[in-house]
Amino acid sequence: MHAVLEQLFSELKAKGRLPLKAEELDNVKRRAAKLLDSEFALLTEAGGVVHPALVNAVRDQMRADLDELLEREAAGADGFVPDQFEPEFKNLSFEFAPGRSLTFRGYMDRLDVATQPKRVRVIDYKGGKYVWEDEDEFRGGRSVQLAIYVLAAAAAYPKHEVTESRYYYSTAYGRFRVKRVEGTDAARNTLRQVLTALDDTVAAGTFAPVADDCGFCDYQAICGPHREHRAARKKGDPRLAAFYRMREIK
Ligand code: SF4
Repeated sequence: MHAVLEQLFSELKAKGRLPLKAEELDNVKRRAAKLLDSEFALLTEAGGVVHPALVNAVRDQMRADLDELLEREAAGADGFVPDQFEPEFKNLSFEFAPGRSLTFRGYMDRLDVATQPKRVRVIDYKGGKYVWEDEDEFRGGRSVQLAIYVLAAAAAYPKHEVTESRYYYSTAYGRFRVKRVEGTDAARNTLRQVLTALDDTVAAGTFAPVADDCGFCDYQAICGPHREHRAARKKGDPRLAAFYRMREIK
């Protein structure tokens, strides 16, 4: 999906056909379907398709998702125009506390710009299930990617205001929902708070089990059984106070 969207929007931009117009939708959908077929052909050639009979249903669903995404693009005229696709950022330095900085690198799926006033926003496509509570942004320090994208967009467009970076769950499965972090000082300050808490915890060498979100952890076998019990015993350790405060951040 990402590869199709990158190629499609790059072509549309090169031809001066952005923002997407309703009267061009049919042509654009056809082109998207072709690109999707090409991606599946490449995957099949490379042996990445386990059983050819399974492909059609998946491809049909992806095609329907692409169609709906394009319809929403054409209908959602809000002054922003897709401008860059899969841009890389590197050596993105962020001083999260006096004299303490981290450097980030990565890719953004898409950057949209608007004029009058000059604004930019980041879009990151997601294919999975929408899992956010309404008030969530940083999820106790687990989710910092959107805030880092705000920094990356500001570096890429220094004369623009960064309005937001957003996860766009661009499938029927994700119900085309959006989770956004606004490009405000508040978001930057929260990112500082998260990074400071993490850095302090690491610097203090307090690698106690916290055991409040182990489902996605690759180290469960190393951590072993009874981790919840060990975590409960460690919770009062003053060296972990900043970490637990970070866990309260929405
Ligand atoms: S399994 Fe252990 S290391 Fe992994 S998240 Fe849980 S407590 Fe932390």
